[in-house]
Amino acid sequence: MRPMMGVAVALAAGVAAATPAGAARLRWFGQACFEVVSNSGTRVVIDPFGASVGYAVPELEADLVLITHEHGDHNNAAAVKGDPVVLHGLQMNEETREVRGIQVHAVRTDHDAEGGAKRGKNTLFVLKLDGLVFAHCGDLGHVLTPAQVKAVGKVDVLMLPVGGYYTIDAKAAARVVKQLEPRLVIPMHFKTEATPKLPIADPLPFLDAAKEAGWTLRHAGSSRFSVERARLPQQTTVVVLDYR
Ligand SMILES: [Zn+2]
Repeated sequence: MRPMMGVAVALAAGVAAATPAGAARLRWFGQACFEVVSNSGTRVVIDPFGASVGYAVPELEADLVLITHEHGDHNNAAAVKGDPVVLHGLQMNEETREVRGIQVHAVRTDHDAEGGAKRGKNTLFVLKLDGLVFAHCGDLGHVLTPAQVKAVGKVDVLMLPVGGYYTIDAKAAARVVKQLEPRLVIPMHFKTEATPKLPIADPLPFLDAAKEAGWTLRHAGSSRFSVERARLPQQTTVVVLDYR
């Protein structure tokens, strides 16, 4: 697929040739698991899941693995090959680490809207690479406090749970988008064909909220897309990826 002029998201259709020079590549594997590869080839895997979730456990190699919290659908670092540095967000104290040129900041949040009393603590990771700021919300269970919004700072690409039940639902997710004002939003942690029994919603309620807010919607039709600073959309744009 040839990216349309003016569309800031280059839909990579699985081929490196479609990735513009200088672009970071992102791939979603389902639930909250993403791979982000910098243009120099440094590989980051976030929240690799175990076999119980319903998705095929991908064979991944990475330089850096980020674990937002220690639940089995997020912390299968042992499955990632390549001898990566593994950062467990709940062991980080709101600190910034730099691994192979990638800056990682951990912002402490809760897995529920009751201060963590129900489901414990969670990490919102902020990653800086290739002049872009990525934020991965893990199993965020609440809208952000003003202090958390400040700690996260400016975001270009937001990986955001929208399925509810274990995390924020569509409405709260839309509020988090309004709090952080990212250029690109990647919904995650929603029901798919691979997870029919999970008590979470499909992405439609969030897409309805996005339409209501006037955001641009794009279906990538692929698990992958590439993003670069010069091609970020001016308007908030929601990109729905396919995990396959
Ligand atoms: Zn969890």
